[in-house]
Amino acid sequence: MDKNGTAAFKQLVESAPILFYVADKNLKFTYINPFFSEIHHISKQQAVGLHISEVIGIDGFNGNLKNYNKVLTGEIVKFNTAFVKLDGNPHYCYAIYEPLIEKGEIVGFTGVVIDTTAEHELDQLSKTDLLTQLSNRREFEYDMVNILEGDITLNYGMLILDVDFFKKINDQLGHDMGDNALIKLSKLLESIIEFPSKVFRIGGEEFAIILYDLKGEDELRRRADYIRRKVASSIIIEGKNITVSIGGILFKAGDDRSLILKKADVALYTSKKNGRNQVYISNSRLTTNSAD
Ligand code: GH3
Ligand code: MG
Ligand code: MG
Repeated sequence: MDKNGTAAFKQLVESAPILFYVADKNLKFTYINPFFSEIHHISKQQAVGLHISEVIGIDGFNGNLKNYNKVLTGEIVKFNTAFVKLDGNPHYCYAIYEPLIEKGEIVGFTGVVIDTTAEHELDQLSKTDLLTQLSNRREFEYDMVNILEGDITLNYGMLILDVDFFKKINDQLGHDMGDNALIKLSKLLESIIEFPSKVFRIGGEEFAIILYDLKGEDELRRRADYIRRKVASSIIIEGKNITVSIGGILFKAGDDRSLILKKADVALYTSKKNGRNQVYISNSRLTTNSAD
C-alpha cells in the first residue's frame, strides 16, 4: 500500500464504528481501535499487553476459543455470534479473524467485529406478527420451503386452525376483546407446541401449526384433537368459550407446497361444515417420494 493508502486505512480503522484489534500468537492485544475502547471501556494503553480473556471476559473468550485456535493455524475465520451486554440486552455481531503472517510465520491475527444487532432486530420484526408475537405468514412460507427441501425420512403434520364465529365475538364484545382472544389463543398454542414444532399466525384469525416427526396420521389426529380440546376448555372471553376448527394433513419433504395447503384448507372447510369445534385430517396421499 502506498503512503496515502496507508494513511487512509489508518484513518478508517481509527474512526469506523467497527471493532478492530490485533492480537499476538499468545492471544495478547497489540492494538485496539477507538471503537473497541469505547465498547469495552478500556483505553488502548490499558489493553495492549493484556490477554483477550482479561478484556472481554472468560465466558466470551471460551466461547471463541475454537475460532482463535483456527486463525492461529492460518485459517481465515468468519462467523456470526451473539452475547448478552452489561445492560442485559442481546448483542449480535459478525466477526472475521485473519492470520497475521510475517516472514512465513503466523505471528498473530486481526479481528474485525461488526455489530449486526439492528439487522437482526429488523429481521426478527419482519418474521413476527405484531399483535400476537407469533411467527407470521412470511416465516411460515420460509420454513415450509426449508422443510420441503430437507430430510425426506420424516413425517410432518400441517394443521390449519380457524377461530369459530369470530365475527360474532368481535360484534358482541368489541374488536379489542377480539384481539385479546387472539393473544390468549396464541399464548395457549405456544405453550402446547414444543420446539421444533411451531405455531404461526397466517391470517386474521387463522393459525398454522407445523408438527415435526410424527409416526403417522393417527398421531396427527390425536395431537390436533388435543389442541382443539385445550382451546375449547381454556379460552374463555367474558364468559364465552372460544373454539377452533382444525384441518390437517400429513406431509413429507418433496411434496408440493401449494397442494399441502390446499388439502389442509379443504380439511378445515370440512371441519367447519361438520359443525365447527372439530378436527378433520385429510386422508389424501400426498407423498410421491417414498415407496409406501
Ligand atoms: P367461521 O366459524 O366460519 O370461521 O366464522 P368467522 O366469523 O370466524 O369467519 P369470518 O371469516 O366471517 O370472520 C373472521 C373475522 O375475523 C372477520 C374479521 O373482522 C376478524 N378479524 C380478522 N383479523 C382480526 C384481528 O386482528 N383482530 C380482530 N379483533 N378481529 C379480526
Ligand atoms: Mg377465517
Ligand atoms: Mg373464523
